Amino acid sequence: MAVRDLRTLPKAHLHLHFTGSMRPSTLLELADKYGVHLPAALSGGEPPKLRATDERGWFRFQRLYDIARSCLREPEDIRRLVREAAEEDVRDGSHWLEIQVDPTSYAPRLGGLIPALEIILDAVESAERDTGLGMRVVVAANRMKHPLDARTLARLAVRFRDRGIVGFGLSNDERRGFARDFDRAFAIARAGGLLAAPHGGELTGPFSVRDCLDDLQATRIGHGVRAAEEPELLARLAERSITCEVCPASNVALGVYDKPGDVPLRTLWDAGVPMALGADDPLLFGSRLAAQYAIARETHGFTDEQLAELARQSVRGASMPQERRERTLAAVDDWLA
Ligand SMILES: [Zn+2]
Repeated sequence: MAVRDLRTLPKAHLHLHFTGSMRPSTLLELADKYGVHLPAALSGGEPPKLRATDERGWFRFQRLYDIARSCLREPEDIRRLVREAAEEDVRDGSHWLEIQVDPTSYAPRLGGLIPALEIILDAVESAERDTGLGMRVVVAANRMKHPLDARTLARLAVRFRDRGIVGFGLSNDERRGFARDFDRAFAIARAGGLLAAPHGGELTGPFSVRDCLDDLQATRIGHGVRAAEEPELLARLAERSITCEVCPASNVALGVYDKPGDVPLRTLWDAGVPMALGADDPLLFGSRLAAQYAIARETHGFTDEQLAELARQSVRGASMPQERRERTLAAVDDWLA
């Protein structure tokens, strides 16, 4: 029997950062347009070698990310980025994309926080219309900034909820500060009907996942893979059906694990923790959504039945309207049939 194509497996993509979704060729064009000098790590064919498990490595990763972001200056650049992210997702079998953005980073060039968010949300709406992909936004606060900034962002995210914002996140270096510093921001987001999806359990251990659950009442965790080090925590995630947005290629690229086989996909799977595989920052890590499922198949021996179940888990973890969720789950069954 022919091998089923993972690019046609219907899935939801719940962990993709805004600038990090950019096509490398688009970055080259935009850098050229604005005369931005790209370091070799961003202008070559090979993804950069990063090791973010120490603070210097993480700083280097952030610096590359900042340079790439500095190439997004005009509304048309934002529209292009969003449209291409949607096109790439469709190509990889995604039916639903929740893209993560901190609009603060784009505000200075786009006329302020609110105009930046308006431009992003308009772009998402157009991309959804043009590609047929379901697309929503998770507004993410930056934990390197002051918690008051996060509260402002949370209020803004709630205000624009009916324009396609479904969640509130927290990103950047987990080693800095505590999740609880951001509890007020998350309370605002949750009270406003947004899903709480902070990063945790990537650069630091199981405690950071626990903090996300206890202090931020997270219902989804960005990464969360380090929970694998603590069976009781896995049991808790499984029991409460907290979806972990697991990004295998990112974990290896950033040195969280040495090789794809070390990413604890099987540990989470066996514990019954729902996962939504994600690409995180394809621009920097060199692989997109379907490639994450390929790692599960080729390195971890997931069968097609199990891959279909992984896809279902991503769909169940998504903030999708119920009717669309059922349609997408049925499409997963069709893939398997
Ligand atoms: Zn991330």
